Amino acid sequence: MATTSFSAADIIARKQDGLALTREEIAWWVRGSTSGEIPDYQTSAFLMAIYFRGMNIEETCHLTSAMMASGKPLTLAGIRGVKVDKHSTGGVGDKISLILGPLVASVGVHVPMISGRGLGHTGGTLDKLESIPGFKTGLKAPAFERVVRKVGISIIGQTDEIAPADRKFYSIRDVTSTVQCPPLIVSSILSKKIASGTDAVVFDIKCGEGAFMKTARDAGNLADLLFRVASRLGLKVSSILTRMDEPLGMCVGNAIEVREAIEVLRGRFVEDLVDLSLTLGSEMLLLAGKTSRREEALRLLRTALLGGKALQKFKEMVRAQGGDPCIADDPGMLRIAPHRSTVSAAGTGFIADIDALEVGRIAVVLGAGRVRAEDRVDHAVGIEFLKKKGARVRKGEPLAVVYAGSPSRGRQCARLLKAAIRISTRRPRLHRVIIGKVTSKGIMDLPGV
Ligand code: URA
Repeated sequence: MATTSFSAADIIARKQDGLALTREEIAWWVRGSTSGEIPDYQTSAFLMAIYFRGMNIEETCHLTSAMMASGKPLTLAGIRGVKVDKHSTGGVGDKISLILGPLVASVGVHVPMISGRGLGHTGGTLDKLESIPGFKTGLKAPAFERVVRKVGISIIGQTDEIAPADRKFYSIRDVTSTVQCPPLIVSSILSKKIASGTDAVVFDIKCGEGAFMKTARDAGNLADLLFRVASRLGLKVSSILTRMDEPLGMCVGNAIEVREAIEVLRGRFVEDLVDLSLTLGSEMLLLAGKTSRREEALRLLRTALLGGKALQKFKEMVRAQGGDPCIADDPGMLRIAPHRSTVSAAGTGFIADIDALEVGRIAVVLGAGRVRAEDRVDHAVGIEFLKKKGARVRKGEPLAVVYAGSPSRGRQCARLLKAAIRISTRRPRLHRVIIGKVTSKGIMDLPGV
Protein backbone atom coordinates (compact mmCIF):
# COMPACT_ATOMS: atom_id res chain seq x y z
CA MET A 1 0.00 0.00 0.00
CA ALA A 2 1.45 3.36 -1.00
CA THR A 3 1.71 5.71 1.95
CA THR A 4 1.57 9.46 1.60
CA SER A 5 4.25 11.45 3.37
CA PHE A 6 3.54 14.70 5.16
CA SER A 7 5.65 17.29 6.89
CA ALA A 8 5.43 16.94 10.67
CA ALA A 9 6.19 20.64 11.15
CA ASP A 10 3.37 21.61 8.73
CA ILE A 11 0.86 19.40 10.57
CA ILE A 12 1.84 20.94 13.91
CA ALA A 13 1.54 24.44 12.41
CA ARG A 14 -1.91 23.67 10.98
CA LYS A 15 -3.15 22.48 14.34
CA GLN A 16 -1.58 25.52 16.06
CA ASP A 17 -3.67 27.64 13.69
CA GLY A 18 -6.78 25.79 14.81
CA LEU A 19 -7.36 23.95 11.53
CA ALA A 20 -8.88 20.49 11.38
CA LEU A 21 -6.49 17.69 10.44
CA THR A 22 -7.45 15.07 7.88
CA ARG A 23 -7.86 11.33 8.49
CA GLU A 24 -4.66 10.73 6.45
CA GLU A 25 -2.59 13.25 8.40
CA ILE A 26 -3.71 11.83 11.74
CA ALA A 27 -3.14 8.21 10.66
CA TRP A 28 0.31 9.16 9.31
CA TRP A 29 1.20 10.75 12.62
CA VAL A 30 0.03 7.82 14.74
CA ARG A 31 1.93 5.32 12.56
CA GLY A 32 5.08 7.43 12.49
CA SER A 33 5.12 8.10 16.21
CA THR A 34 4.47 4.44 17.12
CA SER A 35 7.23 3.20 14.80
CA GLY A 36 9.69 5.83 16.04
CA GLU A 37 10.00 7.58 12.66
CA ILE A 38 8.49 10.72 14.12
CA PRO A 39 10.63 11.75 17.12
CA ASP A 40 9.00 12.25 20.53
CA TYR A 41 9.85 15.97 20.57
CA GLN A 42 7.62 16.49 17.53
CA THR A 43 4.86 14.34 19.02
CA SER A 44 5.08 16.48 22.18
CA ALA A 45 4.46 19.59 20.06
CA PHE A 46 1.66 17.83 18.18
CA LEU A 47 -0.08 16.85 21.43
CA MET A 48 0.43 20.32 22.87
CA ALA A 49 -1.16 21.90 19.79
CA ILE A 50 -4.16 19.56 20.21
CA TYR A 51 -4.27 20.42 23.92
CA PHE A 52 -4.65 24.14 23.14
CA ARG A 53 -6.68 23.93 19.93
CA GLY A 54 -8.78 20.82 20.56
CA MET A 55 -10.15 18.47 17.94
CA ASN A 56 -13.55 18.28 16.35
CA ILE A 57 -15.58 15.10 16.52
CA GLU A 58 -14.33 13.78 13.14
CA GLU A 59 -10.70 14.33 14.08
CA THR A 60 -11.28 12.62 17.43
CA CYS A 61 -12.80 9.61 15.63
CA HIS A 62 -9.87 9.49 13.17
CA LEU A 63 -7.39 9.66 16.04
CA THR A 64 -9.22 6.90 17.95
CA SER A 65 -9.35 4.63 14.88
CA ALA A 66 -5.69 5.19 14.04
CA MET A 67 -4.61 4.45 17.62
CA MET A 68 -6.83 1.38 17.72
CA ALA A 69 -5.22 0.11 14.48
CA SER A 70 -1.67 0.80 15.72
CA GLY A 71 -1.38 -2.73 17.12
CA LYS A 72 -3.10 -6.03 16.60
CA PRO A 73 -6.68 -5.69 17.84
CA LEU A 74 -7.99 -8.76 19.70
CA THR A 75 -10.92 -10.53 18.22
CA LEU A 76 -13.52 -12.20 20.37
CA ALA A 77 -15.88 -12.65 17.43
CA GLY A 78 -15.99 -16.41 18.05
CA ILE A 79 -17.66 -15.88 21.41
CA ARG A 80 -21.42 -15.68 21.09
CA GLY A 81 -23.43 -12.73 22.34
CA VAL A 82 -22.62 -9.13 23.15
CA LYS A 83 -19.40 -8.86 25.17
CA VAL A 84 -19.43 -6.07 27.74
CA ASP A 85 -16.63 -4.42 29.71
CA LYS A 86 -16.68 -1.70 32.37
CA HIS A 87 -14.28 1.21 32.60
CA SER A 88 -13.88 3.48 35.59
CA THR A 89 -12.16 6.84 35.31
CA GLY A 90 -10.30 6.01 38.52
CA GLY A 91 -10.89 6.35 42.20
CA VAL A 92 -9.81 5.47 45.73
CA GLY A 93 -10.91 2.12 47.17
CA ASP A 94 -12.42 1.17 43.80
CA LYS A 95 -12.57 -2.63 43.86
CA ILE A 96 -15.80 -2.74 41.87
CA SER A 97 -14.37 -4.76 38.96
CA LEU A 98 -13.61 -7.64 41.32
CA ILE A 99 -17.28 -7.83 42.33
CA LEU A 100 -18.96 -6.67 39.15
CA GLY A 101 -17.07 -8.79 36.60
CA PRO A 102 -17.87 -12.17 38.20
CA LEU A 103 -21.39 -10.99 39.07
CA VAL A 104 -22.28 -10.10 35.47
CA ALA A 105 -20.57 -13.22 34.09
CA SER A 106 -22.53 -15.36 36.56
CA VAL A 107 -25.79 -14.43 34.83
CA GLY A 108 -24.46 -15.44 31.41
CA VAL A 109 -22.92 -12.29 29.90
CA HIS A 110 -19.31 -12.49 28.67
CA VAL A 111 -17.01 -9.93 30.27
CA PRO A 112 -13.58 -9.39 28.64
CA MET A 113 -12.05 -6.92 31.08
CA ILE A 114 -8.89 -4.96 30.35
CA SER A 115 -7.79 -3.20 33.51
CA GLY A 116 -5.05 -0.88 34.61
CA ARG A 117 -2.56 -0.34 37.42
CA GLY A 118 -2.67 2.24 40.14
CA LEU A 119 -1.03 5.56 39.42
CA GLY A 120 -0.92 8.62 41.66
CA HIS A 121 -3.69 8.62 44.24
CA THR A 122 -5.91 6.15 42.34
CA GLY A 123 -5.64 2.38 42.71
CA GLY A 124 -5.65 -0.24 39.93
CA THR A 125 -7.46 -3.55 39.58
CA LEU A 126 -4.35 -5.39 38.33
CA ASP A 127 -2.38 -4.54 41.47
CA LYS A 128 -5.26 -5.75 43.61
CA LEU A 129 -5.58 -9.03 41.70
CA GLU A 130 -1.84 -9.67 41.91
CA SER A 131 -2.14 -9.89 45.69
CA ILE A 132 -3.84 -13.26 45.08
CA PRO A 133 -1.05 -15.90 45.15
CA GLY A 134 -0.36 -17.13 41.59
CA PHE A 135 -2.88 -14.88 39.80
CA LYS A 136 -1.64 -13.95 36.31
CA THR A 137 -2.78 -10.66 34.83
CA GLY A 138 -0.52 -10.93 31.76
CA LEU A 139 -2.36 -13.61 29.78
CA LYS A 140 -1.67 -13.53 26.04
CA ALA A 141 -4.55 -12.98 23.62
CA PRO A 142 -5.37 -16.69 22.96
CA ALA A 143 -5.43 -17.53 26.68
CA PHE A 144 -7.55 -14.45 27.41
CA GLU A 145 -10.05 -15.49 24.76
CA ARG A 146 -10.11 -19.06 26.14
CA VAL A 147 -10.86 -17.90 29.68
CA VAL A 148 -13.57 -15.47 28.54
CA ARG A 149 -15.16 -18.23 26.47
CA LYS A 150 -14.93 -20.92 29.16
CA VAL A 151 -15.47 -18.98 32.38
CA GLY A 152 -17.33 -15.94 31.06
CA ILE A 153 -14.86 -13.44 32.51
CA SER A 154 -11.16 -12.71 32.41
CA ILE A 155 -9.35 -9.65 33.75
CA ILE A 156 -5.95 -8.84 32.24
CA GLY A 157 -3.72 -5.83 31.65
CA GLN A 158 -3.20 -4.05 28.36
CA THR A 159 -1.01 -6.23 26.12
CA ASP A 160 1.72 -4.87 23.80
CA GLU A 161 -0.66 -5.53 20.93
CA ILE A 162 -3.56 -3.44 22.22
CA ALA A 163 -3.27 0.13 20.88
CA PRO A 164 0.50 0.62 21.39
CA ALA A 165 0.14 4.19 20.12
CA ASP A 166 -1.71 4.98 23.33
CA ARG A 167 1.23 3.84 25.45
CA LYS A 168 3.54 6.10 23.45
CA PHE A 169 1.19 9.08 23.53
CA TYR A 170 0.30 8.64 27.20
CA SER A 171 3.95 8.49 28.29
CA ILE A 172 4.54 11.80 26.47
CA ARG A 173 1.30 13.39 27.77
CA ASP A 174 2.24 12.40 31.30
CA VAL A 175 5.44 14.51 31.22
CA THR A 176 4.16 17.39 29.09
CA SER A 177 1.01 18.24 31.11
CA THR A 178 -1.27 17.28 28.24
CA VAL A 179 -3.25 14.54 29.98
CA GLN A 180 -6.26 16.76 30.76
CA CYS A 181 -7.49 17.18 27.20
CA PRO A 182 -10.90 15.70 26.26
CA PRO A 183 -10.14 14.46 22.70
CA LEU A 184 -6.87 12.91 23.92
CA ILE A 185 -8.59 11.25 26.90
CA VAL A 186 -11.45 9.92 24.79
CA SER A 187 -9.21 8.57 22.00
CA SER A 188 -6.94 6.99 24.61
CA ILE A 189 -9.77 5.20 26.41
CA LEU A 190 -11.79 4.16 23.37
CA SER A 191 -8.88 3.00 21.20
CA LYS A 192 -7.93 0.48 23.91
CA LYS A 193 -11.50 -0.65 24.46
CA ILE A 194 -12.25 -1.18 20.76
CA ALA A 195 -8.91 -2.97 20.27
CA SER A 196 -9.71 -5.33 23.14
CA GLY A 197 -12.55 -6.91 21.15
CA THR A 198 -15.43 -5.90 23.39
CA ASP A 199 -18.77 -4.87 21.84
CA ALA A 200 -19.97 -2.58 24.60
CA VAL A 201 -18.64 -0.67 27.61
CA VAL A 202 -20.30 0.80 30.66
CA PHE A 203 -18.38 3.81 31.95
CA ASP A 204 -18.24 4.67 35.61
CA ILE A 205 -17.42 8.36 35.37
CA LYS A 206 -16.36 9.59 38.76
CA CYS A 207 -16.47 13.15 39.91
CA GLY A 208 -15.43 14.84 43.12
CA GLU A 209 -12.32 15.56 45.13
CA GLY A 210 -10.86 12.07 44.72
CA ALA A 211 -11.54 11.86 40.96
CA PHE A 212 -9.86 12.95 37.78
CA MET A 213 -12.91 15.14 36.99
CA LYS A 214 -13.70 17.43 39.91
CA THR A 215 -17.17 18.60 38.83
CA ALA A 216 -20.30 16.85 37.55
CA ARG A 217 -20.25 19.25 34.60
CA ASP A 218 -16.77 18.16 33.43
CA ALA A 219 -17.68 14.51 34.01
CA GLY A 220 -20.90 14.97 31.99
CA ASN A 221 -18.96 16.58 29.12
CA LEU A 222 -16.53 13.67 29.06
CA ALA A 223 -19.45 11.22 29.00
CA ASP A 224 -21.00 13.09 26.11
CA LEU A 225 -17.83 13.00 24.01
CA LEU A 226 -17.24 9.33 24.83
CA PHE A 227 -20.76 8.56 23.67
CA ARG A 228 -20.53 10.52 20.40
CA VAL A 229 -17.16 9.06 19.37
CA ALA A 230 -17.99 5.50 20.47
CA SER A 231 -21.33 5.54 18.63
CA ARG A 232 -19.67 6.56 15.37
CA LEU A 233 -17.12 3.78 15.76
CA GLY A 234 -19.71 1.09 16.44
CA LEU A 235 -19.07 0.59 20.15
CA LYS A 236 -22.15 0.57 22.40
CA VAL A 237 -21.61 2.62 25.53
CA SER A 238 -23.47 3.88 28.52
CA SER A 239 -22.17 6.25 31.22
CA ILE A 240 -23.04 6.38 34.89
CA LEU A 241 -21.95 9.41 36.88
CA THR A 242 -20.79 8.56 40.41
CA ARG A 243 -19.39 10.39 43.43
CA MET A 244 -15.78 10.08 44.52
CA ASP A 245 -15.55 12.36 47.55
CA GLU A 246 -14.89 9.68 50.14
CA PRO A 247 -13.18 6.32 49.42
CA LEU A 248 -15.40 3.52 48.11
CA GLY A 249 -16.18 0.80 50.61
CA MET A 250 -14.31 0.36 53.89
CA CYS A 251 -10.82 -0.58 52.63
CA VAL A 252 -8.06 1.02 50.57
CA GLY A 253 -4.99 -0.95 49.46
CA ASN A 254 -4.53 -4.14 47.45
CA ALA A 255 -4.91 -7.44 49.37
CA ILE A 256 -7.22 -5.70 51.82
CA GLU A 257 -9.51 -4.59 48.95
CA VAL A 258 -9.56 -8.11 47.50
CA ARG A 259 -10.59 -9.34 50.95
CA GLU A 260 -13.39 -6.78 51.07
CA ALA A 261 -14.57 -7.67 47.55
CA ILE A 262 -14.71 -11.35 48.53
CA GLU A 263 -16.70 -10.46 51.64
CA VAL A 264 -19.24 -8.64 49.45
CA LEU A 265 -19.41 -11.65 47.12
CA ARG A 266 -20.03 -13.75 50.23
CA GLY A 267 -23.01 -11.60 51.16
CA ARG A 268 -21.63 -8.72 53.29
CA PHE A 269 -23.65 -5.58 52.63
CA VAL A 270 -21.30 -2.63 52.08
CA GLU A 271 -23.82 -0.12 50.81
CA ASP A 272 -21.83 1.89 48.25
CA LEU A 273 -20.09 -1.20 46.84
CA VAL A 274 -23.33 -3.14 46.43
CA ASP A 275 -25.21 -0.15 45.02
CA LEU A 276 -22.48 0.62 42.47
CA SER A 277 -22.00 -3.04 41.47
CA LEU A 278 -25.72 -3.63 40.92
CA THR A 279 -26.23 -0.33 39.10
CA LEU A 280 -23.28 -0.78 36.72
CA GLY A 281 -24.13 -4.47 36.35
CA SER A 282 -27.74 -3.75 35.38
CA GLU A 283 -26.50 -1.32 32.75
CA MET A 284 -24.16 -4.03 31.40
CA LEU A 285 -27.03 -6.51 31.18
CA LEU A 286 -29.13 -3.96 29.30
CA LEU A 287 -26.31 -3.28 26.81
CA ALA A 288 -25.79 -7.02 26.34
CA GLY A 289 -29.50 -7.45 25.58
CA LYS A 290 -29.91 -9.94 28.43
CA THR A 291 -33.13 -8.14 29.27
CA SER A 292 -34.71 -4.85 28.25
CA ARG A 293 -36.00 -4.06 31.75
CA ARG A 294 -33.79 -2.53 34.43
CA GLU A 295 -35.87 -4.07 37.24
CA GLU A 296 -35.39 -7.52 35.75
CA ALA A 297 -31.63 -6.91 35.36
CA LEU A 298 -31.40 -5.88 39.01
CA ARG A 299 -33.40 -8.94 40.08
CA LEU A 300 -31.10 -11.30 38.16
CA LEU A 301 -28.01 -9.71 39.71
CA ARG A 302 -29.36 -9.64 43.27
CA THR A 303 -30.27 -13.32 43.01
CA ALA A 304 -26.80 -14.19 41.68
CA LEU A 305 -25.09 -12.20 44.42
CA LEU A 306 -27.16 -13.53 47.30
CA GLY A 307 -27.26 -17.09 45.95
CA GLY A 308 -23.45 -17.36 45.77
CA LYS A 309 -23.27 -17.65 41.94
CA ALA A 310 -21.07 -14.56 41.68
CA LEU A 311 -18.67 -15.90 44.32
CA GLN A 312 -18.47 -19.19 42.43
CA LYS A 313 -17.66 -17.29 39.21
CA PHE A 314 -14.95 -15.34 41.02
CA LYS A 315 -13.37 -18.64 42.10
CA GLU A 316 -13.52 -20.00 38.54
CA MET A 317 -11.82 -16.87 37.21
CA VAL A 318 -9.08 -17.02 39.86
CA ARG A 319 -8.43 -20.70 39.10
CA ALA A 320 -8.39 -20.13 35.32
CA GLN A 321 -5.82 -17.35 35.72
CA GLY A 322 -3.45 -19.42 37.87
CA GLY A 323 -4.52 -18.17 41.31
CA ASP A 324 -5.52 -20.11 44.38
CA PRO A 325 -9.34 -20.15 44.52
CA CYS A 326 -9.24 -21.17 48.22
CA ILE A 327 -8.79 -17.48 49.08
CA ALA A 328 -12.49 -17.06 48.29
CA ASP A 329 -13.36 -19.50 51.07
CA ASP A 330 -10.72 -18.18 53.42
CA PRO A 331 -9.83 -14.54 52.61
CA GLY A 332 -7.62 -14.63 55.73
CA MET A 333 -5.07 -16.35 53.45
CA LEU A 334 -4.36 -12.98 51.83
CA ARG A 335 -1.28 -11.44 53.40
CA ILE A 336 -2.00 -8.20 55.25
CA ALA A 337 0.90 -6.16 56.73
CA PRO A 338 1.56 -6.88 60.42
CA HIS A 339 2.09 -3.39 61.85
CA ARG A 340 -1.25 -1.88 62.86
CA SER A 341 -1.82 1.72 63.93
CA THR A 342 -5.27 2.82 65.03
CA VAL A 343 -6.65 6.22 64.10
CA SER A 344 -8.97 7.61 66.74
CA ALA A 345 -11.56 10.39 66.59
CA ALA A 346 -10.15 13.86 67.19
CA GLY A 347 -13.45 15.03 68.70
CA THR A 348 -17.06 14.13 69.43
CA GLY A 349 -19.71 14.61 66.73
CA PHE A 350 -20.23 13.21 63.23
CA ILE A 351 -17.76 12.22 60.53
CA ALA A 352 -18.40 15.08 58.11
CA ASP A 353 -15.84 14.21 55.47
CA ILE A 354 -13.17 11.64 54.58
CA ASP A 355 -10.92 13.28 52.00
CA ALA A 356 -10.57 10.65 49.23
CA LEU A 357 -7.71 12.45 47.49
CA GLU A 358 -5.71 12.60 50.71
CA VAL A 359 -6.51 8.96 51.54
CA GLY A 360 -5.25 7.99 48.06
CA ARG A 361 -2.04 9.93 48.70
CA ILE A 362 -1.59 8.26 52.09
CA ALA A 363 -2.00 4.87 50.40
CA VAL A 364 0.91 5.84 48.13
CA VAL A 365 3.04 6.85 51.17
CA LEU A 366 2.23 3.44 52.69
CA GLY A 367 3.45 1.77 49.48
CA ALA A 368 0.06 0.54 48.19
CA GLY A 369 0.22 2.82 45.13
CA ARG A 370 2.75 4.36 42.81
CA VAL A 371 4.15 7.76 41.99
CA ARG A 372 5.69 6.60 38.69
CA ALA A 373 4.48 3.81 36.42
CA GLU A 374 7.64 1.75 37.06
CA ASP A 375 7.35 1.81 40.90
CA ARG A 376 6.60 -1.45 42.73
CA VAL A 377 3.64 -1.72 45.08
CA ASP A 378 3.39 -3.46 48.44
CA HIS A 379 0.26 -5.61 48.20
CA ALA A 380 0.01 -6.16 51.95
CA VAL A 381 -0.33 -2.57 53.21
CA GLY A 382 -3.55 -0.59 53.39
CA ILE A 383 -6.21 1.20 55.38
CA GLU A 384 -9.41 -0.15 56.87
CA PHE A 385 -12.12 2.28 57.91
CA LEU A 386 -14.27 1.24 60.84
CA LYS A 387 -16.70 4.16 60.34
CA LYS A 388 -17.66 6.25 57.35
CA LYS A 389 -19.15 9.64 56.62
CA GLY A 390 -22.26 10.39 58.69
CA ALA A 391 -21.32 8.10 61.60
CA ARG A 392 -21.74 9.52 65.11
CA VAL A 393 -18.42 9.25 66.98
CA ARG A 394 -16.98 10.01 70.41
CA LYS A 395 -13.56 11.56 70.97
CA GLY A 396 -10.90 8.82 71.13
CA GLU A 397 -13.08 6.18 69.47
CA PRO A 398 -11.24 4.09 66.79
CA LEU A 399 -12.14 5.21 63.25
CA ALA A 400 -9.64 3.37 61.09
CA VAL A 401 -6.69 0.97 61.15
CA VAL A 402 -3.52 1.48 59.10
CA TYR A 403 -1.67 -1.69 58.09
CA ALA A 404 1.96 -0.75 57.40
CA GLY A 405 5.27 -2.38 56.57
CA SER A 406 6.96 -0.78 59.61
CA PRO A 407 5.75 0.78 62.90
CA SER A 408 7.17 4.22 62.00
CA ARG A 409 5.47 4.28 58.58
CA GLY A 410 2.26 3.16 60.28
CA ARG A 411 2.43 6.00 62.82
CA GLN A 412 3.24 8.55 60.11
CA CYS A 413 0.27 7.45 57.97
CA ALA A 414 -2.08 7.25 60.95
CA ARG A 415 -1.26 10.91 61.74
CA LEU A 416 -1.93 11.90 58.14
CA LEU A 417 -5.16 9.90 58.08
CA LYS A 418 -6.45 11.52 61.27
CA ALA A 419 -6.10 14.91 59.56
CA ALA A 420 -8.02 13.62 56.51
CA ILE A 421 -11.09 12.70 58.60
CA ARG A 422 -13.10 15.81 59.49
CA ILE A 423 -15.41 15.70 62.49
CA SER A 424 -18.22 18.18 62.95
CA THR A 425 -20.92 18.69 65.54
CA ARG A 426 -23.41 19.04 62.63
CA ARG A 427 -24.76 15.90 60.98
CA PRO A 428 -23.62 16.00 57.31
CA ARG A 429 -25.97 15.48 54.37
CA LEU A 430 -25.40 12.05 52.90
CA HIS A 431 -25.62 11.34 49.19
CA ARG A 432 -25.95 8.12 47.30
CA VAL A 433 -22.77 7.11 45.43
CA ILE A 434 -24.75 7.04 42.16
CA ILE A 435 -25.51 10.47 40.69
CA GLY A 436 -27.33 9.14 37.61
CA LYS A 437 -27.10 7.98 34.05
CA VAL A 438 -25.86 10.45 31.44
CA THR A 439 -28.36 10.75 28.60
CA SER A 440 -28.87 13.19 25.73
CA LYS A 441 -31.57 14.86 27.86
CA GLY A 442 -29.38 15.26 30.94
CA ILE A 443 -28.77 13.16 34.04
CA MET A 444 -31.40 10.47 34.60
CA ASP A 445 -32.07 9.18 38.12
CA LEU A 446 -31.59 5.46 38.57
CA PRO A 447 -33.48 3.30 41.07
CA GLY A 448 -31.72 2.50 44.31
CA VAL A 449 -30.84 -1.10 45.04
N1 URA B 1 -7.45 6.99 31.18
C1 URA B 1 -6.92 6.61 30.00
O1 URA B 1 -6.91 5.43 29.68
N2 URA B 1 -6.43 7.56 29.19
C2 URA B 1 -6.43 8.87 29.51
O2 URA B 1 -5.99 9.66 28.71
C3 URA B 1 -6.98 9.26 30.74
C4 URA B 1 -7.48 8.29 31.56
